[in-house]
Amino acid sequence: MNAFEYHQGELFCERVPLRKLAAKFGTPLYVYSRNHIVGQFAGLDRAFRQIDHLVCYAVKANSNLAIIGELAKAGAGFDIVSAGELYRVVRAGGEPGKCVFSGVGKTVEEIEYALKLGIYIFNVESEAELRQLDCVARRLKKRAPIAVRVNPGVDPETHHYISTGKEESKFGISIKRALGVYREASRLAGVEIRGVQMHIGSQIVKTQPYVLASRKLLGLVEEVRQLAPATLKTVDLGGGIGIRYKDQTPPTPQQFAAAVLPLVKNVGLRVLLEPGRFIVGNGGVLVTRVIYVKKTPVKTFVITDAAMNDLIRPALYSSYHEIVPVKATKTGKIKADIVGPVCESGDFFAEARAIAAVGEGELLVLKSAGAYGMAMASNYNSRPRPAEVLVNGSRVDLIRRRETLKDLISGEKIS
Ligand SMILES: *Cc1c(COP(=O)(O)O)cnc(C)c1O
Repeated sequence: MNAFEYHQGELFCERVPLRKLAAKFGTPLYVYSRNHIVGQFAGLDRAFRQIDHLVCYAVKANSNLAIIGELAKAGAGFDIVSAGELYRVVRAGGEPGKCVFSGVGKTVEEIEYALKLGIYIFNVESEAELRQLDCVARRLKKRAPIAVRVNPGVDPETHHYISTGKEESKFGISIKRALGVYREASRLAGVEIRGVQMHIGSQIVKTQPYVLASRKLLGLVEEVRQLAPATLKTVDLGGGIGIRYKDQTPPTPQQFAAAVLPLVKNVGLRVLLEPGRFIVGNGGVLVTRVIYVKKTPVKTFVITDAAMNDLIRPALYSSYHEIVPVKATKTGKIKADIVGPVCESGDFFAEARAIAAVGEGELLVLKSAGAYGMAMASNYNSRPRPAEVLVNGSRVDLIRRRETLKDLISGEKIS
């Protein structure tokens, strides 16, 4: 489903013109399509229907309460990486019992909080964390359900900053050492072995890395089962399924399932997935207004009211976002750098890009901004963060109000 389409020369989100939303809520503005997001979840969920499975949405991609809430209603579990994300899931109506907790640096406070709420699985990333989990759980007279995050040593062929499954990565435990960690876990009274897990990277647009990594991961399962025959229940293939930003051709849910199902369907374990970007990435856009068009002898700059603090992906990962006008124009194209007002040379959305010839005051849209957009926004340069709107058919909900100047200093004081 493409939620963002032109009708009579105007860009819509579902049945609502973006122009109207910009007029009502101002810019920069994140706009999300509820039906795209829930549809992505449902598509993946359906592709695995022949086996026991749970799709755990990776909250860090977009942690707005309304989006978590819609996915919770649709039956999703959640992949969380902090106590803050767990708090959000609970406040949005999600079930702690469907949460898997990832991340290399879980603190004692976070472990306590998650144990008290009764989460599904801790994805353990080091021996030190395993011992800490054991210690905290015994103190609380509980057992922490764990999976070891196994680093299968497979190159996901993606951007180096979002590649996590290679040998030299800080994430996970190398497959050679994983069984030893499971042996240690089997001797600890405060932990219970529940699963095996991997997450090899992000924006992976081929199925082959998943196939290679899954084969390696599944090679461990029988030995882990011998250590914990009664409690081993899950195999988690992680997230990372890519989306189309420009000209990529990522697998559809059916293609993804067709590649991995034959490997996992007879293992007798529940299959978990942790997609983030796939669920929300193309379900959101950032609407921005052109403040100035600055022409210099060598370049044209289109200066927008959105900046790197609102959407940092181009600056951080050199990532590509399609940029289109809200009002389709027939006046041809210009070649320009699309930049924000922040005082950093890295503050650009595109360089030497051919875009529709827009003028000052006109609206542009940065597409594919639903994942790692607002979630990574900051107040750098003391810029209030954007508002967020969720569209469902012709219904519009403001799901986060725009920050005010007062919000910027709340929590601070003059000494
Ligand atoms: C970030 C992350 C995900 C989600 O990654 P996407 O590329 O957004 O699908 C899943 N699992 C873990 C452990 C992560 O760190």
